Amino acid sequence: MNNHLEIGKTLESHIQIRNLNAFYDKQQALKDINLDIPRNKITVIMGPSGCGKTTLLKSLNRFLELGDGAQVSGEVLLDQENIYAQDIDVTEVRKKIGLLAQRPFPLPMSIYDNVAFGLRIHRIRKGQDLDKAVQHYLEAAGLWNEVKDRLDQPAAKLSIGQQQRLCLARGLAVEPEILLGDEATSALDPISAQHIEARLIDLKQYYTVILVTHILRQAKRLADYVIFMYLGEVVEAGTASQVFENPRQERPRAYLEGKF
Ligand code: ADP
Ligand code: MG
Repeated sequence: MNNHLEIGKTLESHIQIRNLNAFYDKQQALKDINLDIPRNKITVIMGPSGCGKTTLLKSLNRFLELGDGAQVSGEVLLDQENIYAQDIDVTEVRKKIGLLAQRPFPLPMSIYDNVAFGLRIHRIRKGQDLDKAVQHYLEAAGLWNEVKDRLDQPAAKLSIGQQQRLCLARGLAVEPEILLGDEATSALDPISAQHIEARLIDLKQYYTVILVTHILRQAKRLADYVIFMYLGEVVEAGTASQVFENPRQERPRAYLEGKF
């Protein structure tokens, strides 16, 4: 099924996915995906468990073949540049993309160093400049006020919700253009989840955000655009209002009505 340009038709697209297929051994996990993902919007990927949401997300930072050993064909264009081209620098691609995983994985170091880590790897920053930058990204992640007096404490001492915001700060410190979230609030309590949601809504003015969630209410709160997947295919893609209020296909309609 071809959803070419169904979304982002009138908007500038940041990511274009063309004829993307992915196999884990003989099992096909992505089937001829064609999508345009608009810049500075939140695009939410939905669909039942096992339909390929995580696989699609991982295809965007080259993790799929390089990390999971999947076989990938087709193109993913970031700003018109195919990240699957032979001569591409994967490290450069990954710098453009931040990923918030299902559970926070803070590095075994202080709160400060977790954020400084990203900054040090990618640019030379020292002393006051580094302090300011660490503060800036902790503020952007909505964590600064809670940690400013204990920056030298181990990150592991933070609550899970705070750890997830720390991981967001660390991801932002690399200055990506695209933020990916794979069920990024599913391990969090409702208040912590709300914190992350609020940050994502703020941050979309600077980033293109792509989120996987199976929580319908969260999708409705966050999505500008929705992609609905089923058995490795995109079966519907469109603006949030179109997909939620008037899905064209039977599967998303049934899913949205809670029939799955
Ligand atoms: P979702 O995120 O929608 O739950 P996934 O993208 O994780 O779905 O998985 C899509 C399909 O690919 C599933 O059938 C899953 O079992 C399979 N799969 C996912 N990751 C791997 C892997 N690393 N090796 C083999 N099969 C995998
Ligand atoms: Mg998944």
